[in-house]
This record gives sequence, structure tokens and C-alpha cells, in this order.
Amino acid sequence: MFNIFDQLNDQLLITDQVAKVQICNAQKSIVHQHSSEKLKRYQALEQELQTFLNIATDVHAILNEHLEIISCNNGFQDILGWEESEVLKKNYVEFIDYPDAVQIITAINECKASGQVATNIAKCKCKDGKYKWIEWRGKYIANKKIHLLTGRDITLQKEREEERLAKREAEELEMLKDEFLINMSHELKTPLNVIYMTLQLESEEIKSALEKNGQEIELNILKRHDKIIQRNVYRLLRLIRNLTEIAKLESDEYRLNFINCDIVSIVRQISLAVADHMQSTKVKITFDTDIQELITACDPSAIEQIMLNLLSNTIKYRKDESKVRVSLTVKDNKVRVTVKDNGIGIPKTELEYIFKRFAKIDTSLNRKCEGSGTGLTVSKYLVELHEGSIWAKSQLNKGSSFIFEIPIVQISDEKDIYYGSTSQQIEEKCNIEFSDIYDI
Ligand code: ADP
Repeated sequence: MFNIFDQLNDQLLITDQVAKVQICNAQKSIVHQHSSEKLKRYQALEQELQTFLNIATDVHAILNEHLEIISCNNGFQDILGWEESEVLKKNYVEFIDYPDAVQIITAINECKASGQVATNIAKCKCKDGKYKWIEWRGKYIANKKIHLLTGRDITLQKEREEERLAKREAEELEMLKDEFLINMSHELKTPLNVIYMTLQLESEEIKSALEKNGQEIELNILKRHDKIIQRNVYRLLRLIRNLTEIAKLESDEYRLNFINCDIVSIVRQISLAVADHMQSTKVKITFDTDIQELITACDPSAIEQIMLNLLSNTIKYRKDESKVRVSLTVKDNKVRVTVKDNGIGIPKTELEYIFKRFAKIDTSLNRKCEGSGTGLTVSKYLVELHEGSIWAKSQLNKGSSFIFEIPIVQISDEKDIYYGSTSQQIEEKCNIEFSDIYDI
């Protein structure tokens, strides 16, 4: 027998099932309606974004992992002149000028590793063969393995900046030229004046001797005058030699004459020759090394000139009792020469400056010695032509060390070895190099 409750229950169950199906269908239709609305909205947004990107004044591009352009906006055409079809699937780096391409690749790799936004300025190739400066910003999207790039044309800004720089450089060059002329006229005028005045004095003496019916002129006076003239001629010779050398070295015209030399013998000879030259003064020069002989290819005259400049400076900038120590060591296949003095020293702030042309720390009129500020410039160039380096360490009022290092190399097919100039040649070089020093 049917129970009225069972019947009712069955009906309720059916109604419930129907209701559930209806609800589910309604839900599905709502979801469908929703997602198609969402899709439409999404598509509209995408279109807006694309239009926005196309009308944007910047370049936009998406690159795959191999840096190939997989999507770009009209910026490539508007700014660089490349049509989309010429850009797609091409490597992005192809559009960058060579030296900048290297730094762009580094920046992209860094930005991929760090996940940060990277900025870089690069010269980009335009279709018409010209170049434009683009400031790129990029970010790597790791889950999609793509690079998003956006680039701003800063060519005009760069050109203005370059114009400003060129103008400033031209002004600086003009100032340097003026400074050079002032320095030059001072350096030429001083010894020329001394020579002129000494000659005038001498001619006065000759005149007065003649007036006194051929009275003899004292030989010692003539000798003293001769020495003054000679020293100032040497000063002029040194200045002109240094200036011509700087000009040649700066225009890459200077050629060194590399031969296999015993550098220990060259440095020892020149140090001892200067010590001899200084015998009558309170200057004590010693040479110190553990190495008997060291054959390396170098230009011996250049090494002698560097040594003479460093040694003459230890004397020019000495205090009363001067002790100079020259040492020679070898490290990492380089020969290192150190010239250490206990002189007046150089302020720390000036240490870099002293290697520049016409650099003089004491420009006062009462300075102890003259100097053109060209010796260290020439020395630096000469050391660098040997692929070496030169630097200075100093403590004010305590002393300075000038150190230069050159690599040890040998010319394999050359048998002869040079051991240094003759003492007469060195003496002549000392005369020229030491002409700035009054009190020796
Ligand atoms: P200069 O012909 O004037 O000596 P350098 O180029 O050889 O030219 O030296 C440049 C300047 O460096 C010198 O004017 C001097 O101020 C400073 N200087 C060089 N060597 C020494 C040193 N050993 N001690 C102190 N000052 C030095």
C-alpha cells in the first residue's frame, strides 16, 4: 500500500531534482553571460591598450628568451623607420650600435637575474642608415619568459648635450692654449733674460777693458758668465726637448727603440753618475738591488731620461741633508724601480696632478729652483709606451717615492745586449736635466 507520505516524498524529490537542474542551468547561463562580458571587456581593453601603444610616442617591444622581437608597436616605424614585418623575429640587438649592444646584453641579463627594471641608453640603427639615441627600460616576466621593453627617443636631448659638451671642450681648449702660451713665454723668457743680461754684462766689461787700452778681463769672471749662459742654454734645450717630446707623444708620433738591455746596469750607472755629479753637495744617492743582471727589451735612452727626471726632482725638491735611495726589484714578471727621497714631499691632493703638463706645486717667486712642470709628463708617457705604469707616494715634509714598473720581455732574435751609455754621454744628459738647479 502506498503510503501517502512516500508518494509525497517522491514528488518532492522529483521537484527538488528539477529545481536543482534549473538552478544549475540558470547558474551556467549567468556564468556564461558573465564570462562573455568579461571576455568582451578584456578584448576591448586589449584593443585600447594596443591603440594606446601604437599612438604612444615611445617604442614598445616584447622579446622572447632569445631576444627576438615577438611583438612591437608603431614606434619602431615612427621613430626608427623600420616596418613591423622588418622587425618581427629579428634579434633586438641587431638594431643597436655595436659598443652599446654589449652593454644592453649585459643589462638585459642582469635584469633577468634580478627581476628588477633596467634602464640603458643605446644608439639605435634607423632604416635610413642614421642613428638615434633611445633610452630603454626593460623588465623580464619570468612566468611568461618574455622581456617587456619600452624606449624613449632622447636624440634631441643627447645632441644638445653633445653640443654643450663640445662648446665647453672648445672653451677649455682655448683656456689651455692661453695657459700654455703664458707658461711658455715665462719658461722661455726667464733663461733668455739671464743669457741676455749676462751677455750685456760681458760686453760692458769688454768695452771698459778696451777703453782702458786693452786691459785684460779677469778669466774667472768670464768663466762664471760662461757657466751661467751654458746652464740657461741647457734649460732652454731641456724645455724645448720636453715640449717636442710631449707633442710627439700626444700625437702618437713617438717611437721607442726597443733593444735587449741589462736594466740593472742602466739604472745603476745612471744613479752612480748622478751621485758623482752631486759629489760637491750634501746629496747622498745610493743604489740597492739583489739582482745581478736582468735582460729586458726597453728603450735605454727613455729609461735614462725617466731616471734623470726622477733623480733631478729629488735634488730640486730636497731639504738640507738629502738622502736618495734607488732600488730595483722584480715582481710578477715586472721590473720595479723606486726612487725614494727625504725631501719636501707633496701634498696628497696634488699627487695625481703632478703628472699633468706644466704642473708645479710651488709657483711662488721665491721657490728654491725652477722647473717647467714637463719632466714627469714626459716620464709618464715614456713608461706607458713600455706598457708600464708610474705613480708617486709622498708625505709632506718627510719625502716622496716615485715608482715605475715595466714588464719583462725579450726580443728573441736579438743577441746583443746593451749595458748603458758612456759616462760622457750621461754627463751631457745630466747637464741638460740638472740645468734647473741653481745651487749645485
Ligand atoms: P719640474 O720641471 O717642475 O720639476 P716635473 O714634471 O718633473 O717638473 O715635476 C712636477 C712637479 O712635481 C714639480 O714642480 C714639483 O712640484 C713636484 N715634484 C716632483 N718630484 C718631486 C719630489 N721628489 N719631491 C717633491 N715634489 C716633487
